Amino acid sequence: MAKNVVIVGGGTSGWMTATYMRKALDRSISITVLEAPHIKTIGVGEATFSTVKLFFDFLGLAEHEWMPSCNAAYKLAIRFANWRADGQSFYHPFQRYEMVDGYNMAEWWMKLKRDDAAFDYSCFAIPAMCDAKRSPRYLDGRVFDDKVQDLFTDSMGTKNAFLADHKVQIPYAYHFDAGLLARFLEGWGKQRGVEQIHDEVLDVVLKDDGSIDYLQTRDHGAVSGDLFIDCTGFRGLLINKALNEPFISFNDSLLCDSAVALQIPVDIKANGMDPCTTATAMSSGWSWNIPLYGRVGTGYVYSSSFISKDEAEAEFRRHLGPASDGCTANHIRMRIGRSRNSWVKNCVAIGLSSGFVEPLESTGIFFIQHGIEELVHHFPNGAIDEEMVKSYNRVVGQCIDGVREFLVLHYVASDRQDTEFWRATKQVAVPDSLAERLKLWKSRLPNAKNINTDYHGFESYSYSVMLLGLNYEPSASLPVLDFLDDRNALEMFRRIKQRTEHLVATLPSQYEYLTHVRSMKGRSAEETLYVRGRMAYDQRALSVPDMAAAPVV
Ligand code: FAD
Repeated sequence: MAKNVVIVGGGTSGWMTATYMRKALDRSISITVLEAPHIKTIGVGEATFSTVKLFFDFLGLAEHEWMPSCNAAYKLAIRFANWRADGQSFYHPFQRYEMVDGYNMAEWWMKLKRDDAAFDYSCFAIPAMCDAKRSPRYLDGRVFDDKVQDLFTDSMGTKNAFLADHKVQIPYAYHFDAGLLARFLEGWGKQRGVEQIHDEVLDVVLKDDGSIDYLQTRDHGAVSGDLFIDCTGFRGLLINKALNEPFISFNDSLLCDSAVALQIPVDIKANGMDPCTTATAMSSGWSWNIPLYGRVGTGYVYSSSFISKDEAEAEFRRHLGPASDGCTANHIRMRIGRSRNSWVKNCVAIGLSSGFVEPLESTGIFFIQHGIEELVHHFPNGAIDEEMVKSYNRVVGQCIDGVREFLVLHYVASDRQDTEFWRATKQVAVPDSLAERLKLWKSRLPNAKNINTDYHGFESYSYSVMLLGLNYEPSASLPVLDFLDDRNALEMFRRIKQRTEHLVATLPSQYEYLTHVRSMKGRSAEETLYVRGRMAYDQRALSVPDMAAAPVV
């Protein structure tokens, strides 16, 4: 009977797991977080997936309650810079394509616009919003995408809270200080009965059947439990070290194994804030730039087979210029791959101990959220059922493997070949299923039926966006479009442009909006609704032209 859950590790995964389980399960289950304050958390992990909103919704936390405490900001897209041989950038937005006559706008772009307009700016509003540093929300709280407005009301409760059941595209994610988020969740969890032990696990003592009996700690003696959650990061202290579960490395297909990270203070009032992550290709990997409220988190993810630690730091500092002067570099060795099984006996690994791929699409926290949700869905009541354990391991493994495929595509489809690293990315072991698909995608763009259909968080539009952005595209548009009238599609392109211009002209800047959200910190939900109501009354923004409401003729 899993009455007593012990979570080892107090980083993002430990506290996300503790708080989610506290909310999901009743008080007959005790939850303890055991963490060693002198063993540091990884200290990075600041950009997220849009579905992380469901995690906060599940806890019942509105943005003004948690964002200011975590210096959080909005992320509407990832901007890929220098990933193409010609140096052009493109956006991967949190936005699906509009459809016209049964075909998405990327298909129509191939036919009608390919020669004279960038696909991302033609098909989506978000690229121009990012360039203009807009907030995705109006000052009265309305979100720019009317289709999902009901998800953004303060009474959203927990509806639509599960990842795999989630049907609509949430149009933005967040950037936040991962350390501050862990501390915020710690406070939230402790107020609701999560126990905390500050101590170090020295030994993991097993029973005869190979399951965990108890944890031997430095100051608190034996800590026993029924279910142990390994949130010890890359160490995999319980799952890999004690239970000997093998770790499957992905280094044959994803070459980056190291990172150097820096935090850079920024005058956001003077410079504004980009509402997107930027991933810039470098000589032996790529760098991230994640704007938060008050600073930028940045780092260079690289392959140690092609560049040394010192050379990587030097190249990165040259890339950053004087902004990095005086900022301390944090060097990190990354374990890329996954534990063969994340659940073994009475131990479940969540976070870096379960699996990690390089943070190119910000999937670390998404994996945590997915792992926790599935754990709750598979939670034991009595003896652990091996069929349930297998089911858990299958969905968690498929999710990580699916993301691995998607990331391999980023490198293989890129036409950069200018350094040894970039040439090597074309020689990696491409999983057979992906190789097959890549062949097909030279003839037609990805769709829901021809991408990896196991749940891994990415939809076909993301695949299509990456391939178009990287210049890996079919030579001709979809043949059937030659037999359809173009007028509806041309009208839709015109509407997207008009709507984009309207959004850029009327949305507040991200700096302005977040500064306003910070002024709401400490207010009750009722007071907030009152303030928002007043602001809606005062606001002079025109209503946004609605793409869906007006039929295309
Ligand atoms: P950690 O943060 O390493 O925490 C481990 C915990 O275990 C600590 O509290 C430590 O004290 C405890 N511990 C260890 N040993 C013991 C012991 N013996 N006894 C007691 N306690 C112990 N994810 C994203 O979603 N977006 C990103 O942009 C992103 N960027 C990343 C960039 C890099 C370079 C890396 C490496 C990761 C990135 N991630 C990102 C992943 C993200 O950082 C992690 O998924 C997240 O921080 C969770 O880490 P964790 O809690 O599993 O491990």
